[in-house]
Amino acid sequence: MQTIDSLKILQEGLPSSSAAPRHIIVIGAGMAGLTAALLLQEAGHTVTILEAQNRLGGRVYTYHGFPGKMYGEFGAMRFPKQHKLAQHLIHERFKLATRPFPMFDEDTFIYVNGTRLRRSEFHPDKVDFNLPAHEKGRLPDELLKAVMQPLIDKIDEPGGWDYLVNRYDSYSLIDFLRESSLSDAALAMIGPLLNLEGRFHFSLVEWFSHYYENVFGDLVFIEEGADALPNAFVPHLQSCIRLGAIVQEIQQSETGVTVTFKDPAGYSQTVSGDECILTVPFNLLRHMEIGGLDVNKWYTIRNVYYGRAHKIFMQFSERWWETKYNISHGVTVTDLAIRNVVYTPAGQDPGYSKGVIIASYAWEQDSMAYSMLSEQERIGQALQDLCKIHPEARHTFEFGISHDWSLDQYAGGIGPLFRPHEMSGRFYDNNGRPVNLIWFANDACDRRHRRWIEAALVAAVKNAFALHTGLRNEVPLDIHE
Ligand SMILES: Cc1cc2nc3c(=O)[nH]c(=O)nc-3n(C[C@H](O)[C@H](O)[C@H](O)COP(=O)(O)OP(=O)(O)OC[C@H]3O[C@@H](n4cnc5c(N)ncnc54)[C@H](O)[C@@H]3O)c2cc1C
Repeated sequence: MQTIDSLKILQEGLPSSSAAPRHIIVIGAGMAGLTAALLLQEAGHTVTILEAQNRLGGRVYTYHGFPGKMYGEFGAMRFPKQHKLAQHLIHERFKLATRPFPMFDEDTFIYVNGTRLRRSEFHPDKVDFNLPAHEKGRLPDELLKAVMQPLIDKIDEPGGWDYLVNRYDSYSLIDFLRESSLSDAALAMIGPLLNLEGRFHFSLVEWFSHYYENVFGDLVFIEEGADALPNAFVPHLQSCIRLGAIVQEIQQSETGVTVTFKDPAGYSQTVSGDECILTVPFNLLRHMEIGGLDVNKWYTIRNVYYGRAHKIFMQFSERWWETKYNISHGVTVTDLAIRNVVYTPAGQDPGYSKGVIIASYAWEQDSMAYSMLSEQERIGQALQDLCKIHPEARHTFEFGISHDWSLDQYAGGIGPLFRPHEMSGRFYDNNGRPVNLIWFANDACDRRHRRWIEAALVAAVKNAFALHTGLRNEVPLDIHE
C-alpha cells in the first residue's frame, strides 16, 4: 500500500497528475470536507460542496450570542501541539492568532463524596475512598501511571503501536485496570477524579494513545473563536459551497455519481459529478439512500459508535472564579451530575467584568442524564450543582445555554469512539475504505487521532490524494499511522 506524508501534502498541495480534472462533489462542510475540497480545487478539479446547515464547520461550532466578544465553543475548542496538520492550517496557512489553553490549575476544585477541596489541598486520605492498605495515600495519577507503565514501555519499542493494537484490541480500559489489580476503591477514586468513568468501557488502546501522547498537555485556542478556522476557507471556496443542502441520496454508476438533496425551500435537486467525497458522520448515513455499497461497508457504517456529550455554558455578571478563587483556566472535577466545570480562557471579553464558563461538560451516561431534560431544566439543574462549589454563581447568574451533541441531527454525537475489538479486523478494515466512486473522509477514518480535527484533516488529505492520483478502492497510509 502506498504511504504518503499528509502534512507535506497539506503544506505543498497535491502532486501534479496527468489525469484529466474531474468534478468532485463533497458532502459536508466540516473540517474534512473543506480541506479535501480546497486541496482538490487547488489541484485543478471542479468542486461542489453540499452542506446541510447554514454555517460551515460541523462539529466546530462557536456560539456568538453572548454580549461583546464573548463566545462559547459548543464543539472543538482546543488544539494540541502534537496535531501538526491542524497547527499548520491555523498558524501557517490562515495565520490565526492563538493563545494557550492550559488544562490544569491547582486552584480549581475536586468535589467528590460530598467533600470540596482545592486541587492543591487534595490528598486521598481527606476523602472517604476506603482504599486498601497497599493503595492508601497514593494519588490517582500515581496509581494510573503505575499500571500503565508496561504499555508505555512497549509503545516506545520499534513496532510498539502495532503490538499494542494486536495484543490489546479486545480490551476495554476497565478490563485492563482490573487485570492490573487496581482495587474497586481505587477505581471509584480515579474514575471521577481523572474523568475516566465515561471512558471505562471503551477501547483501552485508543484511550492509552491519547494518554501516552499527553494530548491535553500543551493546547492552544483560536482567539476569535474556533469557527475562524472553517470560516478561513470561505475566500477560497465560497463560489462552490451550497449551504442548506440536505443530502438524501447518492447513486453511482460506472462513470459518475448523482447526488439528490433537499434545498432550503424544501425542493428536491440533483447534482452530478465524476466522484464524491462523503464526510458526513457514519451514523447519519443510515438515513441516506446510498447505491453500490457492499455488505462489509454497511457493516462498518452500522457499527461505528458515536459518543454522547453536552456542554452547558453560563454567563455571569462577574468573573468571580478569577477575582475570588484565583482561577483563570483549568477544570473542576466532580461526581455531581454536572461532572466537569471548565473555566475556559477562550471566549472571555477583557472589556467586560462579565464572563462565561462551561458549567457542565459531560460524556456518555452523564450526558444522557441531561438529554431528557428541557433546556430550562438543564440550566437550572446545572446551576444548582455549580452552587455547591461556587455559591456566588446563584446571584451573579445571567444566562445559560446548552448544546447536546447526541440530539444534533447533523452530528449524531460528539464523535466516533472505538469499543473493544474495533481497532483491527473487519470493522476497522472497512472503516475508511472507498467504494468505487464514493470516498469516505471524516474523523472516524484515522485510527491514531480519531475524534479530533486532526483525524478529519488526515482523512481529507488521504482521500484527496487517492482521488487525484487515480487510486481505486483504496486510500494510502499516512507515514504517522
Ligand atoms: C463537544 C466537542 C468537543 C470537541 N473538542 C475538540 C477539540 O477540542 N479539539 C479537536 O481537535 N477536536 C475536537 N472535537 C472533534 C472535532 O470537532 C471533530 O473531530 C471534527 O470537527 C470532525 O470534522 P468532520 O469534518 O469529520 O465532521 P463534521 O464536523 O461533523 O462535518 C460533517 C458535516 O456534514 C454535514 N452534514 C451532515 N449531514 C448532512 C447531509 N445529510 N447533507 C449535507 N451535509 C450534511 C454537517 O452539517 C457537517 O457540517 C470536538 C467535538 C465535539 C462535538
